[in-house]
Amino acid sequence: MDDLASLSQAIAACRICVEQPIRRPLPHEPRPVAWPSATARILIAGQAPGTRVHASGRPFTDPSGDRLRSWMAIDAATFYDRARIAVVPMGFCFPGLDAKGSDLPPRPECRATWHDRLMAAMPQIDLILAVGATAQHYHLTRLGLGRLIAPTLTETVGNWETILEVSAQPAVFAMPHPSWRNSGWLKRHPWFEAHLLPVLRRRIAERL
Ligand code: SF4
Repeated sequence: MDDLASLSQAIAACRICVEQPIRRPLPHEPRPVAWPSATARILIAGQAPGTRVHASGRPFTDPSGDRLRSWMAIDAATFYDRARIAVVPMGFCFPGLDAKGSDLPPRPECRATWHDRLMAAMPQIDLILAVGATAQHYHLTRLGLGRLIAPTLTETVGNWETILEVSAQPAVFAMPHPSWRNSGWLKRHPWFEAHLLPVLRRRIAERL
């Protein structure tokens, strides 16, 4: 198993998507934004940095982060306490924009190279916020719960109670992305804020 400190150093210096990309190279210099932790019990597994996080070098320094923190009922100081909360998105570098100006999906090179090693080096994680379909697919499959991945994100998130019931160690919360683009989704699915979030907040408070 890798040592987490040396793994973190190797990730910080990673240039795979420029020098050995699976398809097209990353259109800018890599700037990996991943905050693994040897002590945190909570892991936020998101998608990939957007333009603001690419500029700041800190995860969730954007309106999505504000919403995520309100979902978790924690302040920024707690959120950025790396001893208590790890942040490992499915792609560590901003992947660039598509022709319509939307963020491209997380780079597959990251998952192929780093994620299994990182998760093996953080065995103390016992609560995972799987934010978005890519993170849900990776973590549920890794934990042998791939059967709970539904054809749509709404259905997978709708399975949250079953997922929580069978994923005791670590517990997994399947969640939508906190982006403003999902404001309509949140209005159409009020059970997410009414039922899932109170359970999530309780589990987080128990681990802080
Ligand atoms: S996205 Fe991941 S694999 Fe690609 S350069 Fe960044 S850290 Fe390396």
